[in-house]
Amino acid sequence: MTVPPEGYNGKVAFVTGAASGIGRATALAFARAGAQVALADLSADGLKETTRLIAADGGRQALALTCDVTNEQDVKAAVDKAVEDFGRIDAVFNNAGIEQPVKPATDISKDEWDRIIGVSLTGVFLCLKAQIPHMVRQGGGAIVNVSSGAGVKGFQGQAAYAAAKHGVIGLTKSAALDYAADNVRINAICPGIIDTEMIRRFGDTRPGGREGLIADEPIGRLGKPEEIASAVLWLCSDGGAFTTGTALVVDGGQTT
Ligand code: NAP
Repeated sequence: MTVPPEGYNGKVAFVTGAASGIGRATALAFARAGAQVALADLSADGLKETTRLIAADGGRQALALTCDVTNEQDVKAAVDKAVEDFGRIDAVFNNAGIEQPVKPATDISKDEWDRIIGVSLTGVFLCLKAQIPHMVRQGGGAIVNVSSGAGVKGFQGQAAYAAAKHGVIGLTKSAALDYAADNVRINAICPGIIDTEMIRRFGDTRPGGREGLIADEPIGRLGKPEEIASAVLWLCSDGGAFTTGTALVVDGGQTT
């Protein structure tokens, strides 16, 4: 499952949630593999840092787009700007998402529910709505939507997060069928527990903390953002050309 080092020369990648964690690592990996990269996130400061890291890594200039994935106009403007500047979008990682404080299902307020579903599920839908027409027009493309281990099994205290992440898989599989004949491949990725700011925040609120999270990983450690990035690059590459509508679990055995 390796992507040739220069496998994305001449290609354009678009990554949401690119200011931190898994999104930043994936944006860096696309750039390292030769892609021009558009970065979308709420955090302008975080995007500035990702842009700096990409330039320091290989001298490439990334396009930073401040964007709230829950806002349809923002998302459309960001995707259209990437296409305007780079001419097309070949590979997409719809990765922006937020965590849920640990609590039983009926303790979740309606506002918390709306926020979690809004960012982690509706945000992916709005991205697909803006991205797919460009890909159909240009003759194809590949999209990976971020789900989670919580997209394939239940997790205690995580009802809204798990509902959003299960929803991402249903959305991905259905949209993959809608656009397979247009050469637009759409897959989901289900990371296990990956060492990012989100998990540092989550570990602080969860009984057992970080050690408890490590204990949940049969492989005996947390995953690295780069280990998700490499799977995303493979799914979007020519090597993944026959793969669509799948939910690829990359989780150190957590959900096995
Ligand atoms: P992270 O470090 O918190 O990064 C998430 C990024 O998304 C942040 O830069 C955040 O910006 C941005 N974001 C949040 N809401 C947004 C919005 N409405 N519009 C645009 N950008 C927004 O998290 P991560 O761990 O890398 O997680 C990335 C994705 O992987 C999430 O969807 C998460 O659910 C999923 N995931 C993570 C793990 C894990 O163990 N880390 C496991 C399974 C799935 P701000 O910082 O400004 O909010």
